[in-house]
Amino acid sequence: MDFDLSDSQKEIRDAVAALCARFGNEYWRACDEKNAYPEEFVKTLSEAGWLSALIPQEYGGAGLGMVEASLILEEINRSGGNAVACHAQMYTMASILKHGSAAQKQRYLPRIASGELRLQSFGITEPDAGSETPRIKTFARREGDHYVVNGQKIFTSRYQHSDMLLLLTRTTPFDQVKKKTDGMSLFLVNLKEIGDAIKAVPIATMVNHGTNQLFIDNLILPREALIGEEGKGFSYVLSSMNAERILVGSESIGDGRWFVEYAVKYSSDRRVFDRPIGMNQGVQFPIAKAHVAVQAANLMASEAAWEAGEAAMNTLGGYGFAKEYHVERKWREARLYRTAPISNNLVLSYVGEHLLGMPRSY
Ligand SMILES: Cc1cc2nc3c(=O)[nH]c(=O)nc-3n(C[C@H](O)[C@H](O)[C@H](O)COP(=O)(O)OP(=O)(O)OC[C@H]3O[C@@H](n4cnc5c(N)ncnc54)[C@H](O)[C@@H]3O)c2cc1C
Repeated sequence: MDFDLSDSQKEIRDAVAALCARFGNEYWRACDEKNAYPEEFVKTLSEAGWLSALIPQEYGGAGLGMVEASLILEEINRSGGNAVACHAQMYTMASILKHGSAAQKQRYLPRIASGELRLQSFGITEPDAGSETPRIKTFARREGDHYVVNGQKIFTSRYQHSDMLLLLTRTTPFDQVKKKTDGMSLFLVNLKEIGDAIKAVPIATMVNHGTNQLFIDNLILPREALIGEEGKGFSYVLSSMNAERILVGSESIGDGRWFVEYAVKYSSDRRVFDRPIGMNQGVQFPIAKAHVAVQAANLMASEAAWEAGEAAMNTLGGYGFAKEYHVERKWREARLYRTAPISNNLVLSYVGEHLLGMPRSY
C-alpha cells in the first residue's frame, strides 16, 4: 500500500500551513489566556473554504476526502493552533449528508459549506450517559406535527458559536427497546428559533473549549427538524462521530509533530554545562522515541501526541510550566484526546475484542 501523499494533497497541506503561519503561537496563547473563541482564525479558514472539505461539490463544498480533511486539521495543530475550535463544522453535517431528506440537504449544506451557517455543536453526552450513550434520558415526545423535548446535556461544545445544534434524544425509553441503541432520534435544532427553551451554562475547564451544560425545557421542534426516521438516530449520529474519531486522530498527530519540532529546536538552542542540552541522551532519546511513535501513530494517535508532549515538557525543564513557552498549553490541549471524544480505555477495548479476538469487557 502506498502511504505517500499525492501532489494535490501536498498542495493542500502547504496551503493550510501558509494560512496557519499568519496566526502562530502568540495568537493561540492570547485566545487561551482570555478563554476567547479564535474568531479571526475560524473566519479566515472558512473563507478559504477548508472547512467545507467533506461537503460534495454539488452542495457548494470542496468535495474532498477524509485524507485531505485530516491533513487540514493536522496542519492546524502542527502550527501550534487548536483545530477543536472549528473541526466540528467539517463533520457534524455528515448526519444530514448521509441521512437527511433532499430538502434538508438543499436547505442546509450549501450554507454550511459557505460558512454562512455554523453547525458545529452537537449534544450527545449527558450527566448520566457519557461512554454509554444509550442511557441518555433527554426525551422528544411527539405531539401532532411537532416534538416537545425535555432533558439535559453536558459538555456541549461551541454552542455559543453555532447557528444549529445536532441533538440526540430518546423517543422510546431505554427500558422499552429490544436493542439498547434503538429508540433514539436525531434532530437538527435551529438555535435562532427556540427562544429560551435551551439554557446554556458554560463549564470552566482546563482547555479553551467553550463547552456547556444545556438545560432543555419544553423545546418545541417541528417534524422537519427530525433527521431520517424516528428511532434510528444512534446509527445516524455515528456518521458524524466516526468521521470525528478519525479527524481528531489527525489533530493528535499534528500536536505530536508540534511538540517534537519545538523540543528539537529548544534542545538545540539551550546550552547547559557549556553544550546544547540535546547532546545529552537523557534529553535526546525521549524526543527521538516520541518522534518514532508519532510517525507510527495510527489508531492510538492521542497516546503518541501525549508522549511527545511529555518529552517536550521534560526538555523545557522549568520553562515548560511558563505560559510564554507555549508547551504547557499544547500539553493541556493534547491531554483532552485521551479522554474525549472517546476515552482510550474504550479504544483499547475495541482493539482487544475486535482485532485480538479477546472477550468483550463490558
Ligand atoms: C472538553 C470536552 C468537550 C466535550 N465536547 C463534547 C460535545 O461537544 N458533545 C458531546 O456530546 N460530548 C462532549 N464531550 C463529552 C465526551 O465525549 C465524554 O466526556 C467522553 O465520552 C467520556 O464520557 P464521561 O466523561 O461521561 O466518562 P464516563 O463514561 O463516566 O467514564 C469515566 C471513566 O471510566 C472509564 N470507563 C467506563 N466504562 C469503562 C469500561 N467498560 N471499560 C474501561 N473503561 C471504562 C472511561 O474510559 C473513563 O475513563 C466533551 C468532553 C470534554 C471533556
